[in-house]
Amino acid sequence: MIITVASGKGGTGKTLVATNLALSLKNQVGVQFLDCDVEEPNAHIFLKPVIERQETVSIPIPQVDEARCTFCGKCSEACTFNAIAVLKNRVLVFPELCHGCGVCSYICPEDAISEVERELGVAEVGYSGEVGFVQGRLTIGLAVAPPVIRRVKGHIDPKRVAIVDVCPGTSCPMVEAVRGSDFCLLVTEPTPFGLNDLALAVEVTRKLDIPCGVVINRAGVGDNKVEEYCLKEGIPILLQIPLDIQIAQLYSKGIPLVEGMPEWRDAFIALFQGIMQVSTGGSIR
Ligand code: SF4
Ligand code: SF4
Repeated sequence: MIITVASGKGGTGKTLVATNLALSLKNQVGVQFLDCDVEEPNAHIFLKPVIERQETVSIPIPQVDEARCTFCGKCSEACTFNAIAVLKNRVLVFPELCHGCGVCSYICPEDAISEVERELGVAEVGYSGEVGFVQGRLTIGLAVAPPVIRRVKGHIDPKRVAIVDVCPGTSCPMVEAVRGSDFCLLVTEPTPFGLNDLALAVEVTRKLDIPCGVVINRAGVGDNKVEEYCLKEGIPILLQIPLDIQIAQLYSKGIPLVEGMPEWRDAFIALFQGIMQVSTGGSIR
């Protein structure tokens, strides 16, 4: 089973939920943790994994042989990412826009395009105690996260419960990470910003046809609009974590909640049971 843990905005406590869910389940089922928040992976702070190997992630970028090129413009017309431009007697490739799809080299009638590898980042593979661990790191300054996310997800072991920490937001990297999961847990906070971004994230999960549920973090700080929204939309609220100084202190020290306050373990196991119930079509409301 693949559970993605996402949030419409950053800083809502997504990694707090994902890491504590993994740690709470490790004695119940086989668990794997995949950090797909590749621009800023930070689950390692809490899980303290041993990294056994590193895999380079790269994509093929076009390289044009201008001696063969007739400057027909077909490659540029075919590129949906505007990553290649054809001038009167020059072809310009913009590597930072290229997604390595290979369409331009496939379409070139003169066979003038070859491909060179461009490194985007790494996937690091290891373990944290009984929990399998994989994290992606996109090279700083690069914007093409999906290939790194795909590489991390390529390590999913179908025999384990895979918990995937998704990058915040609702753009391409979030969609890439959530796509194909069995359940998406959306972590939010009870504020107008939290509600706005939650609604956007819910739309994405509905378009991808993935069941979702909500965790409200810092419950009690704002209003009850998130609860009202979830009730109206038929989305279950599976866990509420209050704003609590002890929880905040543990987080700032990199100590998992279920280790610093073991009484929370049962709440995360109940969260998993709620996910199982919803994802198999049951209702918990
Ligand atoms: S499709 Fe091939 S021949 Fe045409 S402009 Fe592009 S590289 Fe040159
Ligand atoms: S590989 Fe794909 S994205 Fe890159 S320049 Fe060619 S068509 Fe565009």
